[in-house]
Amino acid sequence: MDLTSTSTGPTPTQAWQRLREGNARFVADAMEHPSQSADRRAAVAGQQHPWAVILGCSDSRAAAEIIFDQGLGDLFVVRTAGHVLDSSVIGSVEYGVDILGAPLVVVLGHDRCGAVTAAADALLTGRMPSGFVRTVVDRVIPSLLTHAELRPEAPEAAATEDRSGRRLTLPDDDTLRRNHVRATVQMLRDYSSVLADGVAAGRCAVVGVEYALADGTAHLVDHLGELGDPADR
Ligand SMILES: [Zn+2]
Repeated sequence: MDLTSTSTGPTPTQAWQRLREGNARFVADAMEHPSQSADRRAAVAGQQHPWAVILGCSDSRAAAEIIFDQGLGDLFVVRTAGHVLDSSVIGSVEYGVDILGAPLVVVLGHDRCGAVTAAADALLTGRMPSGFVRTVVDRVIPSLLTHAELRPEAPEAAATEDRSGRRLTLPDDDTLRRNHVRATVQMLRDYSSVLADGVAAGRCAVVGVEYALADGTAHLVDHLGELGDPADR
């Protein structure tokens, strides 16, 4: 039992363990579909006490309750394309933690993410998407520049030239996506004093997870706050 917990709900470590167990059931095609009965529906109709906030990509293949095998009243879910942040998104995450008392925030990215691919393409070609889709791309690009490099000689296919003739090169797609998950975790803490204070006090943890579309596994790629034994993550 985590002694820093002040409520009767799960600790951040226990919440993460529940999600890992649910994902293992999903991967093994042994889902229990918990909390999806009519009794559960009635029990949570009057009030909710979700034990995790999921900030995930809107991708139709990355539905939080399904991939973590959970049900009604378990997860407070916020989804945007590319799990990009704005003030309303952060406010929704804060609501789940501060008002509803969830001890865990999960940033849920995934492989083959169209938002990350679109942002990389925009960086390398200079062409931006039209309409408000551009807003999504605008909010992914800073994450991708974390480990971008300007090199004198770089492959044509993955480069765009600057005024000095140097070429911008980006890391491989896997690295780009994980960098975006890590950057989103860090931005949540940097923008939100609610989350920063909660992590510092041990009330909550923020984890970055990458979901693999083909095999259904959810891997931890980053975390803030106590998550128990490193060998058991
Ligand atoms: Zn996506």
